[in-house]
Amino acid sequence: MTQLRRSWVETANSSETGFPLNNLPYGAFHTGDGTLRAGVAIGDHILDVTALENAGLLDLPETGVFSRGTWNDFMALGADVWESFRTFLTDALSEGAAQQSDLEKHLVAISDATLEMPFTVTEFTDFYAGRHHAFNVGSLFRDPANALPPNWLHIPIGYNGRASSVVVSGTEITRPNGQLKAPDMDMPVFEASKRFDLELEMGAIVGKPSKGRVSVQEADDMIFGYVLLNDWSARDIQAWEYVPLGPFQAKATATTISPWIVTKAALEPFRTSTPPREKELLPYLSEPGPMLYDIDLEVGLAPEGKAETILSHTNYNVMYYSAAQQLTHHTTSGCPMRVGDLLGSGTISGPEKENRGSLLELSWGGKEPLTLDTGETRTFLEDGDTLTLRGAAQGDGYRIGFGECSGKLAPAPALD
Ligand code: MN
Repeated sequence: MTQLRRSWVETANSSETGFPLNNLPYGAFHTGDGTLRAGVAIGDHILDVTALENAGLLDLPETGVFSRGTWNDFMALGADVWESFRTFLTDALSEGAAQQSDLEKHLVAISDATLEMPFTVTEFTDFYAGRHHAFNVGSLFRDPANALPPNWLHIPIGYNGRASSVVVSGTEITRPNGQLKAPDMDMPVFEASKRFDLELEMGAIVGKPSKGRVSVQEADDMIFGYVLLNDWSARDIQAWEYVPLGPFQAKATATTISPWIVTKAALEPFRTSTPPREKELLPYLSEPGPMLYDIDLEVGLAPEGKAETILSHTNYNVMYYSAAQQLTHHTTSGCPMRVGDLLGSGTISGPEKENRGSLLELSWGGKEPLTLDTGETRTFLEDGDTLTLRGAAQGDGYRIGFGECSGKLAPAPALD
């Protein structure tokens, strides 16, 4: 296990910060004038890389890479540039670096910045790769004896989601209206979802495009980094609409991501293998090495104006399929992948009740309300609730943090 690398940015040397020199996650921000800038988190500061580029302090193969303030153009430069840029940043921010005086004038306090989407999402695909989640949902929506669909142990199941509704942490979410029909109703109704939920997921960002099918190793090489991801889900809309083509409007309202792209390079020390296979996979899906990561995750819920209760703790390492396997499967049809493609992992639920990554599972379909620390109960989300995902990989004396993935729920639009 690697140790903390010390920086001349003092707050980056704390064992508590999520943004030590070992991390260097990539984000986008503005400071009030509205001009979007690309930045790198270091301790409690952001290094303004758009300003560094404008000042001629970066050695990149093209100009204007950061002029848009997002990371798509940088990703498109390829893995050699990803690596050389990270090496430059690591050297320049290290304790005793000669570049300190050039760089320190381009530091902005995170508390003075508004964080925006770190990249333009070109496409969004969401998967269903949590073994415990798939079993729990299958038990609730179908029956425990046939909880896992027959394909589940063979295919990383997914659906093509919406890029247009992916938003950054802090964006308010509006409860959707939709078509609902409980089994005991004769006719559906159109009204506000009453079973609005979260899904605790990780998002993998594709940084290298593909044409045609790629191997699992090639897929891993294509992944630029990871974010936390909340795939907001209307369970009552989902239950009525999902047969036979899967989720549609139930999942289209919003998907929230954390504001910092944690690079695959920062996560290298935390690689871990997927759990043992229950059925042998077809050869095209077998992993040549460990492709999951040991990342602790938690979910907190704060009712309007009240203290937060932690609902769940889990770890990304429980997932049955890695993002690389999902990406490989995604290309089997010949489907091209683009820079900025976002892949949701699927809900990350562990084996125990306190490890469940959705209210659907935590309240067992609404039958077992949770009691919050405030004394209130919840089955699904209520208007005014703020839901926050957090995640970090724990190193030897340092943490690789993702920042928060948070959203507050506003009431549904009025019906005519
Ligand atoms: Mn999902």
